[in-house]
Amino acid sequence: MLTVIKFGGSSLATAEKIYNAAAIAWDHKKQGKDVVMVVSARGKSTDELLLQASRIVREPDTRELDVLLSTGEQVSMSLVAMQLISMGVPAVSLCGWQAGILTEDKHNSSRIISIHTERILEELRSGRIVVVAGFQGVDSRGDITTIGRGGSDTSAVALAAALGADECLIYTDVDGVYSADPNMAEGALRHTTLGYDQMLEMASLGAGVLHNRSVELAKSKGVKLSVLSSLSSSGGTEIAPQPMEGSRVSGVICDKKTALLEMFSQGIGDLPDVLQLLAQSGIGADMIISHTGRTGLTVPQNRAKDALRLLLDNADRLGLSSVCADTNVAKLSLVGCGLCSDACVAARMLGALKEQGIHIRSMVAAEIKISVLIPYADAEQGVRGVHREFFGK
Ligand code: ADP
Ligand code: ASP
Ligand code: MG
Repeated sequence: MLTVIKFGGSSLATAEKIYNAAAIAWDHKKQGKDVVMVVSARGKSTDELLLQASRIVREPDTRELDVLLSTGEQVSMSLVAMQLISMGVPAVSLCGWQAGILTEDKHNSSRIISIHTERILEELRSGRIVVVAGFQGVDSRGDITTIGRGGSDTSAVALAAALGADECLIYTDVDGVYSADPNMAEGALRHTTLGYDQMLEMASLGAGVLHNRSVELAKSKGVKLSVLSSLSSSGGTEIAPQPMEGSRVSGVICDKKTALLEMFSQGIGDLPDVLQLLAQSGIGADMIISHTGRTGLTVPQNRAKDALRLLLDNADRLGLSSVCADTNVAKLSLVGCGLCSDACVAARMLGALKEQGIHIRSMVAAEIKISVLIPYADAEQGVRGVHREFFGK
């Protein structure tokens, strides 16, 4: 049996936590499994590396930024392997390029194209636990790439798929996937199983517990994926093909890293061209609402300035009379199934927000999600109010 286990930054932040992660890996090995361990950078070290870069230059060269950011995972993998070896457990650490993780020729948010597993398999055959740096790979020129913030989950699932692993276990600082971020909503309920589609929607809408691309990949490659606590052996959530059990609403999610772009035009404007222009720069738009003379859409907050600049530079061609960006917003979403078939769901969600005195800027509804845009400052209160409405106290 082959298992891929992944440890996030918070689960590796201290020496005790490194020991704890190594002990979990050793436990799996003792059960007779081959073990591939994927590690993230310790604690908040990726943020610290970004800060260091920003002190040198406001917009760092993307190739060099990847060289810098990949060092976070390299620190983790070496410490974990050292810990295992000191416990008498054979182990070896491998960077993304050593582990054969090939990505697109693109920096900062590259996609994994393929994994050449020979080296990992060779190390497993010799009885070692293989500790692989998450979040990184190598492009066709041999340059280091990174695959996007939170991407170690995707590294783990990609390795599990390439190796034909029996399971991919994501160890983190919570003991599963909850009906809302348990650090935000008291009384959030843990799912024992959750459908791939619901999990994918939750992750895409901002539930940071899993990188959305990891869920997408697990679904398409049929990887058995679970979220477990690195601190306790109880709990856990299995992401499975079947829809989640119980309530038709699976979660309340809040994304505070979004921005609203508003465009005004004389006529209907040119929405297809606007979307194409943004897409060409890798800026995905969401919550698109268009009326004659006014269009609103949301973009990731860290791309709001780029999006604004692009639209202003092309305002004449796009027929726009003015464009503005508002980062003082948060996107609150309800995820589940059959949400639109039951009109009560939207009414209850809006009612719960109204009760909290929260003003809604815009709303989009589909069978598996309903999202509303609310003031940034009301995000937590909104999550708690809507969560209470659907899941009780
Ligand atoms: P790691 O460092 O292990 O990658 P992350 O910080 O990326 O951990 O993800 C774990 C965090 O995800 C939790 O601490 C929790 O605050 C957050 N989270 C957001 N939404 C949810 C949810 N619905 N269920 C569980 N955790 C969630
Ligand atoms: N260290 C990277 C980040 O902080 C990748 C990860 O944690 O998954 O985004
Ligand atoms: Mg994470």
